[in-house]
Amino acid sequence: MAQISLTFPDGNARSYDAGVTPAQVASSISTSLAKKAISATVNDKHWDLQWPIDGDATIAIHTMKDEVQANELIRHDLAHVMARAVQEIWPDTKVTIGPVIENGWYYDFDRAEPFTPEDLGAIEKKMKEIINKRDEVRTEVWERDRAIQHYTDNNEPYKVELIESIPGDEPLRMYWHGDWQDLCRGPHLQHTGQLPGDAFKLMSIAGAYWRGDSSRAMLQRIYGVAFTGKEKLKAHLTMLEEAAKRDHRKLGREMDLFHMQEEAPGQIFWHPNGWKIYTQLQDYMRRQQERGGYVEVNTPQVVDRKLWEASGHWEKYQENMFIVEVDEEHAREKAVNALKPMNCPCHVQIFNQGLKSYRDLPLRMAEFGSCNRYEPSGALHGIMRVRGFTQDDAHIFCAEDQIEAETKKFIDFLSVIYKDLGFEKFSVKFSDRPEKRSGSDEVWDKSEAALKAATEAAGCAYELNPGEGAFYGPKLEFVLTDAIGRDWQCGTLQVDFVLPERLDATYIGADGAKHRPVMLHRATLGSFERFIGILIEEHAGKLPFWLAPRQVVVASITSDADDYVMEVVAELKKAGVRAEADIRNEKINYKVREHSVGKVPVILAVGHREVEERTVSVRRLGEKQTKVESLENVTKALAVEATPPDLL
Ligand SMILES: [Zn+2]
Ligand SMILES: [Zn+2]
Repeated sequence: MAQISLTFPDGNARSYDAGVTPAQVASSISTSLAKKAISATVNDKHWDLQWPIDGDATIAIHTMKDEVQANELIRHDLAHVMARAVQEIWPDTKVTIGPVIENGWYYDFDRAEPFTPEDLGAIEKKMKEIINKRDEVRTEVWERDRAIQHYTDNNEPYKVELIESIPGDEPLRMYWHGDWQDLCRGPHLQHTGQLPGDAFKLMSIAGAYWRGDSSRAMLQRIYGVAFTGKEKLKAHLTMLEEAAKRDHRKLGREMDLFHMQEEAPGQIFWHPNGWKIYTQLQDYMRRQQERGGYVEVNTPQVVDRKLWEASGHWEKYQENMFIVEVDEEHAREKAVNALKPMNCPCHVQIFNQGLKSYRDLPLRMAEFGSCNRYEPSGALHGIMRVRGFTQDDAHIFCAEDQIEAETKKFIDFLSVIYKDLGFEKFSVKFSDRPEKRSGSDEVWDKSEAALKAATEAAGCAYELNPGEGAFYGPKLEFVLTDAIGRDWQCGTLQVDFVLPERLDATYIGADGAKHRPVMLHRATLGSFERFIGILIEEHAGKLPFWLAPRQVVVASITSDADDYVMEVVAELKKAGVRAEADIRNEKINYKVREHSVGKVPVILAVGHREVEERTVSVRRLGEKQTKVESLENVTKALAVEATPPDLL
């Protein structure tokens, strides 16, 4: 028999009969590895232990310690086991597809009766039984016709349709978990006993159209999550619970920050409390931009398609733009405009007014730019993903040899802001040249080198995303990690050689000749709307004092204290603190509870004793104890706390 050579991760090679399977390779190493093995990587491909290897190859045998492969297999095998469990309990259910997704899997079923939340418990129980049976996983390759015949005989029309939609006539792979069979590319585990019975959970049921087509059958989708161990499952479930508690849509209601309604999908109605956060943040950003040497501009919302054609957005971005047709007076045709989806082309219009010289560069042009983008309704999410939003946008027009210094300056600028807003750490992703791109390799070399050097000079490590840059230049992305471990990409800096060319931006160099400026598109927060959503979730509604929309409520304990309450409110306001009175005829505990739900950071309670002693009883959000202090000291301390960090 022909021999093949398999090379192991440690570099050693051994010779085997051609057609050897990874299961046999594992056995040849040790019985314990043969038992523990879950799959292999053969020539960089995830490989089932049962699949033969026909030629020389590299091989690595995986066990549950290999998290990436283990998670994939566990989630994938559980999809099969769940489908088997469902069909064992309800034999008239038809199966469709069940892919692995982030943290778990789902499977779509066709069943006349709807699944109930109680059914999930029954399915989980059946799945655990199947796991305990340690049923062997077996695979065979079938001729297409045989597979179609098999599914036709078993009355599984969705599987027949799936096979018919697979192009070509190559044979198909079948998998069995015990006697239960499914069409599947694999790989899979050795037997169901390798699944961790205590590290998965069925989460929810949702409707889903077959093949995502609303004219086809409505199926029932069951979602599950799974991990390599029960501790990891527990951590995940805790994170979900935390995320639900912090959900900005829920807190937005409780704190009376904003609402959204059907008549304006993806657009925000800001209430006074929410708008207070927004304007505080905007004032702060405006001060930082002034310190950072930016000039602030403002540009039109409704712009003729001619500009979008010139900038390239009409061709590349039209499906995300709101198009507005107007019967313009005196015009022979309808004027076609679009709401701006981004500010860049408008900023070039300002740059192009009047002659620019090298002495004007770098020109840092900032705008709190209101943009509208058409997002499919399914993609909208609270104030995090909307159709109408305002970017903290800026474009730095500079010469090529200024890219590095300007990038470094921006990273320093952004670091201060993130820190002020409560994020101590952020990570940087660097995306370099994609396959399809404009500009010469020489220009790309220079701009990539400039971004790298600037990032290093700013003391940041970066992760490389090869080939993920825009077609017009490389980019940096700045990612925040929040209190419960979720990542949010907020800041960005993109080098652009193309737009200045398309919109004919020029400056006169020291040599007296015309040159093209480079544009750096950059944003720190991204959009105010999304960033406020992130802030609310990061702080679970307990915003830093200076950003809290309602900072202090002064509440009376008895009506005799009403006058003093008003005096305290007036003192605090004079000191620059947002204070309000609560002199309703309610019990103090009731008032405290209500304002705690509203996430008011400080409640000052006053009764007889406080009136007489000119003190207040201070209660901080989340603390049980109160502390009696003099009005003068409290006012001084709160005035400092209410000062934005850049003004301290
Ligand atoms: Zn499968
Ligand atoms: Zn831009």
